[in-house]
Amino acid sequence: MSRLSGVGYVGRFAPSPTGPLHAGSLVAALASWLDARAHGGQWRLRIEDVDTPRCPPGAEAEILRQLDALGLRPDVPPSRQSQHGARYAAALQALVAAGRAYPCDCTRAQIAAAQAARFGPPQRHVERPYPGRCRPGPDGGAAGKAGCPSHRLAGTGAGSPPAPAADPGTRPVAWRLRLPDDAQLAWTDRRLGPQRQDVAAVCGDFVLRRADGLWAYQLAVGVDDAAEGITHIVRGEDLADNTPRQILLQAALGLPTPVYLHTPLVRGPDGEKLSKQHGAPGLALRDAAGVMGALQDAGAVLGLALPPGPWTGTAADWLAAAVAAWRDRPGA
Ligand code: GLU
Repeated sequence: MSRLSGVGYVGRFAPSPTGPLHAGSLVAALASWLDARAHGGQWRLRIEDVDTPRCPPGAEAEILRQLDALGLRPDVPPSRQSQHGARYAAALQALVAAGRAYPCDCTRAQIAAAQAARFGPPQRHVERPYPGRCRPGPDGGAAGKAGCPSHRLAGTGAGSPPAPAADPGTRPVAWRLRLPDDAQLAWTDRRLGPQRQDVAAVCGDFVLRRADGLWAYQLAVGVDDAAEGITHIVRGEDLADNTPRQILLQAALGLPTPVYLHTPLVRGPDGEKLSKQHGAPGLALRDAAGVMGALQDAGAVLGLALPPGPWTGTAADWLAAAVAAWRDRPGA
């Protein structure tokens, strides 16, 4: 089938090792694996351990064991974000040099107060844009405040990455992407169809590096996807509203835009997305029945046309049948 001819397809699964895989994360893992196999492409695994304080010891090893038990094995050894600091620093350096990133010393309280003044009390699950206090104005000065330290950039000389602190003696700063004047982004998701987001209205200039020195998810993911040659991203729908940020960031760095497919979410009895934070149980993969049950549940969420009920073959047989079902699913 020409639409699935796989020349140059590179896909990935990118779990944060904050706990074991659960029924929701398996849907994203399985879909990304199926899509890579259906395209005859490469499937990679990236451990997103950039937020080290949230990654308990042993969680990565458990995820690797779970994927192996499920028969979802990457084609190359896994990469780890905790080892990509130099790559992220080079990207931030390039953005600073191009005038597309700036330091921000706003406290959470300052940001919250400015947002409350402009938009009223916070609402659950509603993100609000950075109010722009540290954003450099047209003359290079911070538009929203006096005495901003943001223009004496620390460590911006050739080859040295920007340091998280702008001025000795001032508190550490975060680094933000300066959005383009028109931050309306249109993109097409393979499952959700045409999408549009005004990134300035949703989140504004977003954080690339946090004031505590940790790299932000958006920067790490956008830079890694390009560095690892990812052509197709298949991941959970909860990340769909991050996609325009990553596309804008990659564009600011002159990097290509991958193709996206966001998979259906698995919800708990309370209607909330299944997540480690909400205490979703890790997959029970102690025996062949546990492995088959987990795969079949994930396949059902993906709408794969496979026989329901007990599977009499092996997990490998099921995966082979699932690749064919994925390829032939309506709308593929
Ligand atoms: N690490 C993210 C997570 O586990 C996924 C990032 C991505 O797929 O872009 O939610």
